Amino acid sequence: MAFPEKPCFDIERVLMGRFPSGCDLLRTLSEFASDNDINCGVVMGIGAVKKACVGFYDQMRKRYERIEFCGEMEILNLTGNISIKDGKPFVHAHIILGDRMGRSFGGHLLDGTEVFVFEYKVFQLNRGGGTLQRELEKESGLYLWKAD
Ligand code: ZN
Repeated sequence: MAFPEKPCFDIERVLMGRFPSGCDLLRTLSEFASDNDINCGVVMGIGAVKKACVGFYDQMRKRYERIEFCGEMEILNLTGNISIKDGKPFVHAHIILGDRMGRSFGGHLLDGTEVFVFEYKVFQLNRGGGTLQRELEKESGLYLWKAD
């Protein structure tokens, strides 16, 4: 089974705010989760980046191909989640970016995405004390949620 048997969560609290210009988006999201003891949650956000790095997962090779965008772009949407991987809060996020022509690009958020402005909304969730854990699934090569 690839999904937790108890998929029902309660919202513990909602955090909303802004990240400083110049920070690395994924690293700051990860630090934010750790600093606020968020082991399980939903992440959303909008804003703009100075540059961005996203991944495209090659399913045959089982690895991310890195795609770099070297200029300013809008963050049209970021959506993701927080769960536990290797005993620590882990952020998995996807991002849609828009250029000045209104074209959209996106992918799996990677290190190297530099914030110009980022407004976040984070829903901290709980599942009756249970945690949502990731572990390596050999078939896909990805760290997926395990059943518990
Ligand atoms: Zn992803």
